[in-house]
Amino acid sequence: MLATLRRWFARTTPEFDPAWESILRQKYAHWSEFDDTELDRMRMLVARFIRDNDWEAAQGMDVTTEVQVVIAAQAAMLLLGLEIDEYFDVTSIIVHKSTVRLRGVRRGAAGTMSDGVQHLAGQATPKGPVVLSWAAVKRGASSPVRGENVVYHEFAHRLDMLDGITDGTPPLGSREASARWAEVCTPAFERVQAGDSVLRNYAATNIAEFFAVATEAFFNRPDVLAEHESDLYDELRRFYGQDPARRPTSRTV
Ligand SMILES: [Zn+2]
Repeated sequence: MLATLRRWFARTTPEFDPAWESILRQKYAHWSEFDDTELDRMRMLVARFIRDNDWEAAQGMDVTTEVQVVIAAQAAMLLLGLEIDEYFDVTSIIVHKSTVRLRGVRRGAAGTMSDGVQHLAGQATPKGPVVLSWAAVKRGASSPVRGENVVYHEFAHRLDMLDGITDGTPPLGSREASARWAEVCTPAFERVQAGDSVLRNYAATNIAEFFAVATEAFFNRPDVLAEHESDLYDELRRFYGQDPARRPTSRTV
């Protein structure tokens, strides 16, 4: 009975509150770039994302409707052209006010270890919560021209993790598609490592970060990526099922 109820609940589409529309027009620059078909799907994805995730506040943060809607819309952007309507295995969204402070021993670049406090804009772990800094979320939502977007970044990691391996390759559906992906991404990753890329340096950390940073650039600076890394842009266009370089742009709100 419980399983039947759950299945029914998952099929129902929750209401998109009209009040969310004005929040998104004001706070999320990309919202005004969608056509009517895209808007219909985005509204459905946003409503589902808000309903289906547990929302937790950290550091005295207040998880308001605005916080939920602005995060949900950016997470929905990555799903817009995909055949899935949700991120599987995300247990909750934990929102911090400013940076996310993590304690403990961590592995750094080039085999280094540090045991200090780390300040992060966000974090995604397999089958766990996605942790986000609201300050970083707001910045990313309102100023795509800066290129960085913590929500796109962390949820790109979650798409990468869908097949159980965090290797910069999301599930692509066929052996041929995976081979083409590697053929394009490997040299593009090597260019970042050599300091010869339009992607920001953090993409050089490892191939998983490369995919997350490339996703940020794909949605935020599509014209730049299409011009300088056209093969990478085409791979991401095929995977995400979207062509952001063709959308009208509204760079800032
Ligand atoms: Zn990352």
